[in-house]
Amino acid sequence: MAYIDLDAHQDNGVCDQFLNDKEVFIFDMDNSAIYPFDRESRRRIDCDLPLPYECRGVEYLRTLKTSLPGFLDSLTRSSSVGLGIHNAGTDVFADDPLGGLALSAAEILERDLYVIGQFRSRGIPVVMLPSGGYTKESYRLIATTVAHLLEDRSISPVA
Ligand SMILES: [Zn+2]
Repeated sequence: MAYIDLDAHQDNGVCDQFLNDKEVFIFDMDNSAIYPFDRESRRRIDCDLPLPYECRGVEYLRTLKTSLPGFLDSLTRSSSVGLGIHNAGTDVFADDPLGGLALSAAEILERDLYVIGQFRSRGIPVVMLPSGGYTKESYRLIATTVAHLLEDRSISPVA
């Protein structure tokens, strides 16, 4: 399983949950200047990409697009990946009071469709998990991604 964690917070709970599971590979992009400051669980991350405080969308998307394809290719070369998880935290949104990052709504949509597309192009079924998001707009960010996925007739919402 490939677990792509794009919530603004470092994925300490995910790391703890899969601490000894060698079949789960974790890719994490997070704001390293906010909670949880958990260096111990961070060691579990296979591709660890800490971001600076108030990282803007251009830099965020550049980091994602230069790192995710190689990560997935390295996994699929050595074994078959049965499932992808896209942890689609919307607390990366610029107005979010907790995430400390600076993506626009359009950049969050671009992120989500890019990640889903990377899995789909490799034939890997993917589950999107809506996670952190602490503004009155957070539901709308998730709904926008889901609406785009449902409108795309080349994508089956149920694998
Ligand atoms: Zn979060």
